[in-house]
Amino acid sequence: MIITSTEDTITAIATPPGSGAISVIRVSGAQAFDIADKIFFGQIKISEAASHTIHYGRIINSTGELIDDVLISIFKTPHSYTGEDSIEISAHGNPLILKKIVELLVQSGSRLAEPGEFTKRAFLNNRIDLSQAEAVIDLISARTDTALRGARNQLNGILSKKIGFLKNNLLNAISLVEIGLDFAEEDIEFIENKELLKKIKNVSGEIDNLLASYSFGKVIKDGVNVVIIGKPNVGKSSLLNYLLKESRVIVSSIPGTTRDIIREEISIDGILFRMFDTAGIRNTQNEIEKEGVMRSREAIKNSDIVILMNDTVQEYSFDIFSEVCSFIDKKKIIPVVNKIDLIDNQNYLNGDLGISAKTGEGINHLLEHLKEMAIKNSNYTEKSAIVSNVRHYQCLENTKNSLENAKESILNKYSGEFVAVDLRNAITNLSEIIGEVTTEDILSNIFQKFCIGK
Ligand code: GDP
Repeated sequence: MIITSTEDTITAIATPPGSGAISVIRVSGAQAFDIADKIFFGQIKISEAASHTIHYGRIINSTGELIDDVLISIFKTPHSYTGEDSIEISAHGNPLILKKIVELLVQSGSRLAEPGEFTKRAFLNNRIDLSQAEAVIDLISARTDTALRGARNQLNGILSKKIGFLKNNLLNAISLVEIGLDFAEEDIEFIENKELLKKIKNVSGEIDNLLASYSFGKVIKDGVNVVIIGKPNVGKSSLLNYLLKESRVIVSSIPGTTRDIIREEISIDGILFRMFDTAGIRNTQNEIEKEGVMRSREAIKNSDIVILMNDTVQEYSFDIFSEVCSFIDKKKIIPVVNKIDLIDNQNYLNGDLGISAKTGEGINHLLEHLKEMAIKNSNYTEKSAIVSNVRHYQCLENTKNSLENAKESILNKYSGEFVAVDLRNAITNLSEIIGEVTTEDILSNIFQKFCIGK
């Protein structure tokens, strides 16, 4: 565990920029209460008030100017978010007022917090582990209920508990190795090997399950990119419009960032689908269109699913299909035929999914298909430990490699010392997930993604 000096007291606005009914300023650190007492005038001194109480008073600057009347909440160490003495000042939500209060707090002895510094302190003070700190950022940025629940579970420590459990099993395994080492000189058959291999295999199996949960976890956390592609007029925008109209939760409607690609976000059963309506990928000599084609190709490459659309009116476009197949996995493609309302004969479909963006026919089928492809029949429950963070995934892969090495060492009858080293490496890899072993680089990488004030 890294111990850093958290002697300085930090401050930041914790609510989003702009005007609002109320905004909150946070102050955390050993001097939080004394600093508050320099600028706050109420019935009671903040440094003398009890923890978890709220006090009304006025913030007044050194020239006697009234800045605002506010409420201050008090959290005494260790019972605060950061684990340190902390206050939260609720002021009127005007950026000018907040700026003045923050300036006063800085003049009185605090400094501006860096992004994520409050959460970093919570981690350094053992209020939460690193995977929980990462869950805080996921919680704030979650766009669907499912993402929110996933982040909540991680913050509640479901993943941490699982990692702790696996670590204990490995510690146990190391103690078996050490028994072996004690007896090595006497050339006693190392009977514990079988038991040891079993233990390692069990942990390895659990790590496999966690690794396998990543594709699901990633979908839950980050959503799925879906590109709709097809000739002009097959009904791409109509499908998108229909989905937006029908989708119970429209997450957001983002105007095309480029002239060529429209992006919309919808939620289907709690999974975020980012839908891209592209210009097309046909060859063209026109410079502006060329740019559009390039962007469409890029969107397709970055997509998880491609809806390849034809309609019942125009000739079926096999060339778009083969073109798309040339740079993405065919399994990612859902071929659909739109405008089935115009035909009676379903033979036209040839195995493609028939839909009508006009009447809505077949669209439920398409949504089911999208969902199935996104989560691939995963049946994780609310209580499953799920990996949704690429850093955790990498640590687990490293753990797995170390365990493979340990197995090899045992099977090759290497000295127990080698096995112990491999197992210790595996433990270190696991510990990185929860931040028991970490570096300043890892930490700054994680916390710089936070907003200031969190
Ligand atoms: P895009 O160029 O692929 O985006 O195609 P649009 O969505 O602009 O649709 C082209 C034309 O087809 C429009 O006149 C739509 O009203 C019509 N259209 C789209 N979907 C359907 C459908 O399912 N049935 C029928 N009959 N017309 C459709």
